[in-house]
Amino acid sequence: AVDVEVVEEAPFRLRVPAQGDMRVDGVVFTSHELLPDPAEDGSLQQVVNVATLPGIVEASYAMPDVHWGYGFPIGGVAATDVERGGVVSPGGVGFDISCGVRLLTADLDRSELPIERVMDGLDRAVPRGAGSGAVWQLSGRAELERVLLGGSRYAVERGHGEDRDLERCEDGGVLAGADPGQVSARAVERGLEQVGSLGSGNHFLEVQAVDEVLDDVAAAAFGLAPGQVCVMIHTGSRGLGHQICTDHVRIMDRAMRAYGISVPDRQLACAPVESPEGRAYLGAMAAAANYGRANRQLLAEAASDVFERVTGQRLSLLYDVSHNLAKIEEHEIGGERRRLCVHRKGATRALPPGHPDLPPALRDAGQPVLIPGSMGTASYVLRGVVGGGAFHSTCHGAGRVQSRKQAARAITGGALRKRLEGQGIAVRGASARGLAEEAPEAYKDVDAVVAAAEGAGLCRAVARLVPLGVVKG
Ligand code: 5GP
Ligand code: MN
Ligand code: MN
Repeated sequence: AVDVEVVEEAPFRLRVPAQGDMRVDGVVFTSHELLPDPAEDGSLQQVVNVATLPGIVEASYAMPDVHWGYGFPIGGVAATDVERGGVVSPGGVGFDISCGVRLLTADLDRSELPIERVMDGLDRAVPRGAGSGAVWQLSGRAELERVLLGGSRYAVERGHGEDRDLERCEDGGVLAGADPGQVSARAVERGLEQVGSLGSGNHFLEVQAVDEVLDDVAAAAFGLAPGQVCVMIHTGSRGLGHQICTDHVRIMDRAMRAYGISVPDRQLACAPVESPEGRAYLGAMAAAANYGRANRQLLAEAASDVFERVTGQRLSLLYDVSHNLAKIEEHEIGGERRRLCVHRKGATRALPPGHPDLPPALRDAGQPVLIPGSMGTASYVLRGVVGGGAFHSTCHGAGRVQSRKQAARAITGGALRKRLEGQGIAVRGASARGLAEEAPEAYKDVDAVVAAAEGAGLCRAVARLVPLGVVKG
């Protein structure tokens, strides 16, 4: 794993030339300093492994927040050509299907925010962790199917939000092609009691303030001003998405041989996009994506209700975007428009200014890209740029450098809570262990990661946000 050849071909652009079974090169948008230590983290080898997948085009990409993941690295982007035997792989999406981030803005300056009262309200209003319930309790498969087909749009139809919210969601809040028939009974069972809940660990709801505006024009278009209060929500498809990934990895693991596919790591189990197994996964994945989007919509409304009660102001949605998803998109490859299956795992789509998929209000500025850092450091709003790279993709966070276990060994939850409170960050409702596992030191330096993503030409920074209070799952 340590003998992967890496060539620095430009600043923040490392190339792993194709060798052995690799069909394309690996390209990692980072510096040597930000690259995880190959003795402890196999993500570079995973970039190499992904490059062997049938139908992969251009390169096996990794973002500056790259680190080890199941099969594919977290921070990886890989596209396959649908018409030329390209495969889809559940490991290229990850277990938390459509995990993503939503950012809401408040018409409030941080100096006028009663943060403790807001945090107490959020603490009561945001279900999280195992057994603490959810905004919705669904009666059975029939009701769940409406969520799986309708995503955020269904939540809005049921009174949780307004039509304007949907314009500010990737895909208008509902991913086409969901097939509830491909969702197992076990996944349904896990999904019934979790829609409208944060989950644990890395998932959070954070009150933040704009610390610095870095692109005046885009910030104005996004409605972001210095000192402004924001709410960032990071969660996904909970147990339902996890079960769907588990189920379909198993199905593909059994089916691969019949398609003559062999992969260097079983965790890369895959099937042609245009095969029964490929279509089944994409249908189930879209269902999970819609579940994840409804989940974020319900939590955003719960947070907005708290803000209205405490401050008299509701929250307004800037954008909602997934960072774990495979999508069928058209891109130009070698001068030809091709239909690709673009896997983004721990990577965010970043559409450039002018892109037709953007709503009119965002078209001139480009797509907002939402980058959480950690509960004790900055987070960012970025935007897509013309040109860009990796099929219009960029990073999704700071990226882990310590495992949960390592982090929990390095600090106690109590000590961390005290330190955060000393920094003026209010903390609500995480277990001591859960808190320690998410210590800021467990993550890369988000400022350096964003600088690398910008330096590589993948995106532009629009605003830097700092935490005021965090509700941890
Ligand atoms: P992932 O989706 O890979 O679990 O997490 C995305 C990113 O969220 C991580 O790479 C990390 O940078 C960031 N993150 C994790 N916990 C927190 C938190 O409590 N607050 C903020 N702002 N970011 C976090
Ligand atoms: Mn997640
Ligand atoms: Mn995530």
